[in-house]
Formats: sequence, C-alpha cells, structure tokens
Amino acid sequence: MNNEKTKVLIIGAGPAGLSCAYELSKKGFEVEVLEASEYVGGMSRSFEIWGQKVDLGPHRFFSKDRSINKFFVEVLDGEYTSVKRLTRIYYKNRFFQYPLKFTNVLFNLNPFTIIRILWDYSIQRINPIKNPATFESWVTNRFGKKLYEIFFKSYSEKLWGIPCSRIDADWAAQRIKTLSLVGAVLSAIRGNAGNKHKTLVDEFSYPKNGTGELYEKCASKIRSNGGKIKLSTPVKKVILNEDNVAKGVELMDGSSVNADHVVSTMPLTSMIKGLDNTPEQVKVAADQLYFRNTILVYLEIDGVELFEDNWIYVHSPDVKHGRITNFRNWCPTLYGNQNTSIICLEFWAFDQDEIWKMENGKLSEIAKEELGKLNLIPKHMEILNSKVIRIPRCYPVYETGYQEPLKILENFVDSIDRLIPIGRYGSFKYNNQDHSILMGLLVAQNIAGEKSTNLWEVNTDLEYQEEGEIKDVLIQ
Ligand SMILES: Cc1cc2nc3c(=O)[nH]c(=O)nc-3n(C[C@H](O)[C@H](O)[C@H](O)COP(=O)(O)OP(=O)(O)OC[C@H]3O[C@@H](n4cnc5c(N)ncnc54)[C@H](O)[C@@H]3O)c2cc1C
Repeated sequence: MNNEKTKVLIIGAGPAGLSCAYELSKKGFEVEVLEASEYVGGMSRSFEIWGQKVDLGPHRFFSKDRSINKFFVEVLDGEYTSVKRLTRIYYKNRFFQYPLKFTNVLFNLNPFTIIRILWDYSIQRINPIKNPATFESWVTNRFGKKLYEIFFKSYSEKLWGIPCSRIDADWAAQRIKTLSLVGAVLSAIRGNAGNKHKTLVDEFSYPKNGTGELYEKCASKIRSNGGKIKLSTPVKKVILNEDNVAKGVELMDGSSVNADHVVSTMPLTSMIKGLDNTPEQVKVAADQLYFRNTILVYLEIDGVELFEDNWIYVHSPDVKHGRITNFRNWCPTLYGNQNTSIICLEFWAFDQDEIWKMENGKLSEIAKEELGKLNLIPKHMEILNSKVIRIPRCYPVYETGYQEPLKILENFVDSIDRLIPIGRYGSFKYNNQDHSILMGLLVAQNIAGEKSTNLWEVNTDLEYQEEGEIKDVLIQ
C-alpha cells in the first residue's frame, strides 16, 4: 500500500496515540488524531498552577529499550535534564528507603519485628506456596508474611481498593520481579558496589518543563510532518463495514470520519461495547473488567524546604492517601523563581465511593488534615492554595481471573481487521509511559508492514523495567 494514500485514524493524544502518529507521520502516512480533551499528553500531560509546572502525580520516564529512548531524545531535540531520585516509604512515623534496603529496614524496626521478619522469611523459603496466583501469596512467597504486611499490604489495598488476596499475581510479577531478602542482605553487605539492586535506579531523564513537554513537542512535530490533531473531539464509536473491517469512527456530535486503519487508545471495554456487532458474551466479559480512579489534591506550601523526596509512598493505614509528590525536588525549571512548593497527594477510588463523589473543598480539607497527621511539613509553613483533579479509569484492575474476560476481548478484537487497540486503558494493561510509547511505535511498524508484533504481549513480556545498572538505562 502507498503510505501517502493510507489514512490512519488514532483515537486519543496520550503517549500511545502520539508516538504512533509521530512514527506514521515520519513514514509519510496520512494521520489524524482525535482527542476528547482540550490538551495532548493524556495522563502524562503537564500543566501550570500558581506560576509553576506540575505533572499529574509523579511521572518518572524510564526505559531500557533503545527505540523508546531514541523517541524521547529525538522528540525533545536532546533538551532534557537529569533528576536525582529519592523515594521513601512512610510507615508508622518512620521513613524506609525505597527500593527497600535491608540495613535501613533493620535500623527502623524493633528487634522483635526483625526476628519475626526473619522467621517468616525462613518459613516461606522452606515451605513456599506452590504457584502463587494472588498478589498476597506471590509477595509472601518472596518476602515472608511480616514484610508483606508491613511493606505491601496496606499500600496495595489503598491503591486497588480490594484485598490483596483478590489482586492477581501478575501485578507483582510486573513490578517487583526478583527482589529477594537474600539479595537485599548481600547488597547491604557489599554496599551495593558493582551489581546494583534490580529496583535501584537513582537518577532519571526528564523533560525540563514537565513530562508533558515530550507530548507537546511530539504533537507539534506530527503537525509539521503534515499530520492532524483535533482536540475536544471525543469519539463515540468505531465503525465497521459488512466484512468486519474498521472503516472509521463516529464522533459524539454525530459526524463520522473515514480511514484505512483505526488505532484506539480509548478504554478497551467501552470501545468494544460501542461496536455494532459485539456479541452478548463479549459484552459480559467487558463488564467484568473495571478501573480504579485517582484523585489528585495539589497544595501550595509557603516554603521551599519541606522534605527531600521526589515522592513518598504513604503506607500508614491511618490516612487515606497513598502517595505524596514534592515537585520542588524535581528540577528548577518547574518552579522558576517562585518561592513556594507544590505538593500533590494521591487518593484512589471507585466510581461509587463516597470520596470520588465528594466536593473539592471537602477533599482539600481531608488532604490538609492528613498532611498534618504525617508531620511532613514544618509547622510554621502555611498552606496557601489547593486544587483538585480527578482522573477516571486510571488503573486497570488486575483482579484474580481478569485474564479470562480479557482474553475474550482480545480474541474478539483480533477478529476485526484494521482495528488496533493499544495503550494503558486502551488495551487494559498497567502501562507506564514507556510501554504505551513502545506500543505506539510498534503499531506504526505493523501498519507499515515492517514488522508483525503481537501488541497484546507488550508490557507483560517486557523485561522488568527497573532491572539493570544505571549506566545502561540513563539516556546519554
Ligand atoms: C498519578 C499517576 C502517576 C504516574 N506515574 C508514572 C510514572 O512515574 N512513570 C510513567 O512512565 N508513567 C506513569 N504513569 C502512567 C502514565 O501516565 C500512562 O502510562 C500513560 O499516560 C499512558 O498513555 P496512553 O496513551 O496509553 O493513555 P492516556 O495517557 O490515558 O491517553 C489516552 C488519551 O485518549 C483520550 N481519549 C479517551 N477516550 C477518548 C475518546 N472516546 N475519544 C477521543 N479521545 C479519547 C484521553 O483523553 C487521553 O488523552 C502515571 C499515571 C498516573 C495517573
């Protein structure tokens, strides 16, 4: 097929949609991106409040994949900075380094707890759970029950809103692959010389004006290459012809746009349920998959030296939020000459939860109250402003057994020609930016006939993203 005469419609201008459009526009395809909101970047956008730039929660860019890093450098024209990473876990009024360091854990816990940790760990080693299918059994197998209870249970249950015994082991396998207590002890003894611990990455590359700058620049390059990006243009449904081939989309305003291929990054479940020919059992499968929402509460603090972390995981079960980001500790280009700090507290909720429906003023009050409980901010510093942002369908929930309905959806979409779902909620995968970008780049290569990668396997088959030594992973 002649590239110039082939039109590709892309639903969504997040990392997946834009990387795909960028790659196709470079190859000479006619591309049109339709974005529901009035901005590009999706969940990875940046924006300005109180004279400073912020992201939607912490957005660290990280990849070991050459094609993804090439995309990052090329789109930003080599203009990015390097951010030193400090992240800790806050639990029962104490800070634990994250990724966990054994000496730090020993120092922070009482001797009885330490004995219990070692005992539970030994028991688990001697008698491991066979084929752990849940997050709880997977983590307990690797760390022992006590460490699981302290460092995984409360945070994971806040995040997912269901007990860890109902969270699929896939999530653990993707995010905490081979961390082991023995490895942590050895690394503490060796002082981490030589072989860095697998989840230890203490520096990362970052666009100077927030993570969203990558996508703003990408959008402008797509336009320079002749591609179109239409904002505030929500897609209602994908249209198929009588031969089960995608032929375009219908917009919310009732108009339609034709294309030779449709790449969708809108939620997989609603995209499938919107099609005209979806069988009842596929709709039932779609209804079994669901998402978790995020509420971000930004607070402007009258001071610049609050705490030194980029973000803190808040495990303490006595507060509802699970993570705090301090944008002052990312890079000076975010705050310029302002002398206040912006922090962001993350809460997670389902649609039906009271907190999701709560009005913004009440949410800000809860955030301020919880911040006070943690004693993170010096008492003399005032909170000057607050802002609430809600992100629906933020996390695809990997509830045990989710693979079965997902497989039904995958098989159904695979039976439709020229309709390609990718992205985080687009393919129901717990993607980071890099995974979504990779999907975008690969789908472009598939459409151009250069490769035929199975896109459902991106992410789950990727090597663990934090593996390896820092010199391998920093973008040079
Ligand atoms: C709080 C938080 C912290 C995160 N931290 C990190 C991190 O540290 N590192 C990292 O790499 N990633 C992080 N992520 C994940 C990252 O934001 C996502 O992986 C990434 O944005 C996914 O890109 P995407 O294109 O697949 O989806 P999205 O970013 O969700 O983009 C999808 C786009 O499709 C549009 N859309 C949806 N429906 C329609 C429709 N019907 N019609 C038209 N357009 C539509 C949406 O408006 C959106 O712009 C974080 C996410 C959150 C929320």
